[in-house]
Amino acid sequence: MPAPLTGSCLCGAIRYTVSTPVTELRACHCAHCQKTSGAGGSVNLPITSDSFKITHGTPKRYEVKADSGRTLFRFFCGDCGSPIYSQRETMPGMVTVRAGTLDNAGDMKITAHIWTKSARPWSYIDPAAKQIPGQPN
Ligand SMILES: [Zn+2]
Ligand SMILES: [Zn+2]
Repeated sequence: MPAPLTGSCLCGAIRYTVSTPVTELRACHCAHCQKTSGAGGSVNLPITSDSFKITHGTPKRYEVKADSGRTLFRFFCGDCGSPIYSQRETMPGMVTVRAGTLDNAGDMKITAHIWTKSARPWSYIDPAAKQIPGQPN
């Protein structure tokens, strides 16, 4: 998908752009992503922070110890509750943007599944994609 990409929360209070081309997505089946999505987990774009820009509004930040033991900041819309992105405390140079908030995903594909050991029975995992039982290094 050619850059820049745009995205938003459900109500539109938060808007953002992604200035790097993205084709590969990563699905996370961890228990936290299941709780925050209310579904089987999250589908994400792992990108550098400097290619991600909030262009409207200010997301709320929720701080939580991830299943990996590291502190994760989860950013979401305080009005409609949509999760927008997350960031590790120890890795401020990277953000993980929720792919479902993109306005257009073109021909993006899930190429890796992480935390497959906690995947819900209803979640589809493409056998051709990379599968990692826990947190990738
Ligand atoms: Zn919103
Ligand atoms: Zn997760």
